[in-house]
Amino acid sequence: MYNTIVVGAGFAGSVVARELAEKGEKVLIIEQRNHIGGNCYDVEDEHGVLIHQYGPHIFHTSNEAVYEYLSKFTDWYEFRHKVVANVNEKYIPVPFNLNTLKMVYGEEKAEKLKKELIDTYGEGARVPILELKKNPSKDIQEIAQFVYENIFLKYTMKQWGQRPEEVDASVTARVPVVLSYDDSYFGDKYQGMPKESFTKLFERMLDHPNITVRLETRAEDVLSIPAEGKVSFEGTPFDGKIVFTGPLDQLFDCRFGRLPYRSLEFAFEHYDKEYYQCNSVVNYTVSEDYTRITEFKYLTGQKIDGTTIMKEYPKSYDGNDGQIPYYAILNPENQALYEKYVSLLEKVPNFYLVGRLAEYKYYNMDAIVARAFEVVEQM
Ligand code: FAD
Ligand code: UDP
Repeated sequence: MYNTIVVGAGFAGSVVARELAEKGEKVLIIEQRNHIGGNCYDVEDEHGVLIHQYGPHIFHTSNEAVYEYLSKFTDWYEFRHKVVANVNEKYIPVPFNLNTLKMVYGEEKAEKLKKELIDTYGEGARVPILELKKNPSKDIQEIAQFVYENIFLKYTMKQWGQRPEEVDASVTARVPVVLSYDDSYFGDKYQGMPKESFTKLFERMLDHPNITVRLETRAEDVLSIPAEGKVSFEGTPFDGKIVFTGPLDQLFDCRFGRLPYRSLEFAFEHYDKEYYQCNSVVNYTVSEDYTRITEFKYLTGQKIDGTTIMKEYPKSYDGNDGQIPYYAILNPENQALYEKYVSLLEKVPNFYLVGRLAEYKYYNMDAIVARAFEVVEQM
């Protein structure tokens, strides 16, 4: 009856489903949650404030094709995301940039430091903190040390339970030192929020006569995947394609042990005032147990009385009920364990892994959409 079964209704699963449906395939999506949208799901809370249930999501991309594709399903609220860090009650722009340099060192000294930074790395360069730390110049060392201690050390310890130099270098490189006066958190050409909501975008993407969505259904309960031989769906052999976007260890009952992930807990608070803080996101880089506070009204541009904020508390992940794996922990040992799970699929035909969980990678939304295009192309 179905040509393809897609597990997961986040960006990975939804884009693949829509593209296959457009080609005339009948697609069934099974999703364990009671809603579509994966971690990008947003919804109005009891006060009518549009919140992001699974952490703040801001769309950004330099990939024209991805931007144009998503624009078929939504208009955009133009929003260039900026972040400030609360450092001992002073608010400084993050990523650390030439504005931050001036705030920290004063005009005169900042000019001198700026010249040395630009002579070394070039105007507009985006330099990872761990690179900057390697520079032997005394002045650059001073800046690197400031940025390391006031922006990266404590935040990274909270987020990963590890020091910046212990986590994969690509992680801290996501927030480089920027040698320009641009305070934007992301360097991408296109940035914004779906005008109505992410959930509406997903509703439109999945609204296709060839797509059926079944919520509150776990892959493990309906699919059986023997190492050799046929996959079956609800006890009946299934010859079509399977696109899996969830965590691979869970699919195989964690038989080689759990794949390590970091998790988060979110604490929502509502206030009867117009705004709670000075910015959409404030990072707490030297204090507090939470990493950041998001105030949704700033992100979405929603005009409403009262405001809802969210504090993010990083947690270790042990797979207990209700815990969600949010971030793969990138290192060679974990990659080897992941590969072991992938090898279980070597003899399973027509089985595709797509997504941040299924590929054990630190993908942004746009990268997932691009990846989904690629997989559909391969098919
Ligand atoms: P998901 O969105 O996780 O979707 C996977 C879906 O599969 C889920 O709905 C899940 O319930 C379902 N599923 C899993 N296993 C099973 C199973 N066994 N059976 C049935 N269903 C299953 N990216 C950005 O570009 N900008 C941002 O600002 C941004 N902020 C982020 C903030 C946080 C806190 C986090 C964690 C991520 C953020 N991201 C951001 C990344 C973004 O969330 C991901 O790129 C995107 O959601 C990945 O889509 P996906 O479909 O791979 O995974
Ligand atoms: N980071 C930090 N301080 C900050 C912002 C980021 O130390 O103020 C580090 C931290 O290790 C974090 C990584 O940079 O995990 C990537 O940050 P990003 O904001 O991209 O994380 P995400 O939004 O994906 O959680």
